[in-house]
Amino acid sequence: MRLSRFFMPILKENPKEAEIVSHRLMLRAGMIRQQSQGIYSWLPIGKKVLDKVNNIIREEQNRAGAIELLMPTLQSAELWQESGRYDAYGKEMLRIKDRQDRPMLYGPTNEEMVTDIFRSYVKSYKNLPLNLYHIQLKFRDEIRPRFGTMRSREFMMKDAYSFDLTREGAEHSYNKMFTAYLRTFDRLGLRAIPMRADTGPIGGNLSHEFIILADTGESEVFCHKDFVNFDIPAENTDFDSVDGLKSIFDKWTSLYAATSEMHDEATFNAIPEAERLSARGIEVGHIFYFGTKYSEPMGAKVQGPDGKEHFVHMGSYGIGPTRLVPAIIEASHDENGIIWPESVAPFDVVVINMKAGDEACDDTCELIYAALTKAGKDVLYDDTDDRAGTKFATADLIGVPYQIIAGPRAVANGEVEVKDRKTGARETMTIEAAINRFVA
Ligand code: ATP
Ligand code: MG
Repeated sequence: MRLSRFFMPILKENPKEAEIVSHRLMLRAGMIRQQSQGIYSWLPIGKKVLDKVNNIIREEQNRAGAIELLMPTLQSAELWQESGRYDAYGKEMLRIKDRQDRPMLYGPTNEEMVTDIFRSYVKSYKNLPLNLYHIQLKFRDEIRPRFGTMRSREFMMKDAYSFDLTREGAEHSYNKMFTAYLRTFDRLGLRAIPMRADTGPIGGNLSHEFIILADTGESEVFCHKDFVNFDIPAENTDFDSVDGLKSIFDKWTSLYAATSEMHDEATFNAIPEAERLSARGIEVGHIFYFGTKYSEPMGAKVQGPDGKEHFVHMGSYGIGPTRLVPAIIEASHDENGIIWPESVAPFDVVVINMKAGDEACDDTCELIYAALTKAGKDVLYDDTDDRAGTKFATADLIGVPYQIIAGPRAVANGEVEVKDRKTGARETMTIEAAINRFVA
């Protein structure tokens, strides 16, 4: 992508409304724009990062056996009257009427709708287990939207829903998601700790919130500090192995970790003081097992091996991609801007032409840009006639992992500089070596 033809509206000034660093950097880097309170457009580089986050989530959901579909944002109130949540949900739910005066709502979550899909088609235990998910916008009329897309009113969620014949089956489905979440957050460059959580208005009795420790987090959390040393389950984990997944779950829940609602002082204080961590955190995922809470009122049942009908045991599993993007920034930035993990960076590398219009610089940059693009790299080429200092500042701000810098003096020697955004290390090398560094 040539920057001169791209749309990346960088802000020079620090936006006053931004209270936390991720919000400030997302606005400055031209990733998002607030359209009305708590409602955002994702501008091109923001959208690129969000897509990469969603793809990692998708790959790990698929690996764990979940199946993707897409449900609508607008739902009929009827389904919610069946479950009893239409009245219970309160003001967070945006209620709308269509032209026939029928009550509708902008979905804050999808248990009812997915249960309706399930009950319409699945009649036998032989079709279980089943886990259906989608990545879709939600709306919750939050009383205090803030921190940009960290807590917005319209936000994206990956929400998965599992269906099983028995509680034991449902626990295995829960452990699949538990394991998939550990892998997902790790691939996003984050260490998210599963913490025992309150089951809240969705109800049930088994629930974990995945929380990233950060001073700007809105949750107060308490945990053992050794979580940082735990290994992440491998890519080839067998998701069909009940015992294998149970042992991952047991290990990750063996140490104390709780949100403030579930915090138990006595157990916490029994941990040696040097190993205790009380901190703030950002909730990036939340998983629940809630049994037959929706299947009973909504009549979602299957015929079991005994020939009788059984209400299915369900779980739901959320991740917030539009919250994860700022969470990654909170965890990875410096005074000059964002430092993206390679897995979600908006571009693989940025080529900086320090003197656009200079024939040697132009030729060198074009050559590198073409070679890397041909090799399948996503390259941003800063071909604008901005000052070199502005270009460096922009490249640092948007956090692309590597910069290839072509200035007249180096180019005259057939060389360019390669800068690692994270470490700041710069290395001068031949043009060919620079290309090979990324192509090889
Ligand atoms: P919170 O406690 O932060 O309000 P929640 O517990 O209501 O969140 P869930 O219903 O568990 O949220 O939703 C699943 C995931 O969706 C959360 O873990 C979070 O990542 C994301 N999410 C929820 N609310 C928001 C929001 N207002 N803005 C952005 N992401 C959100
Ligand atoms: Mg939650």
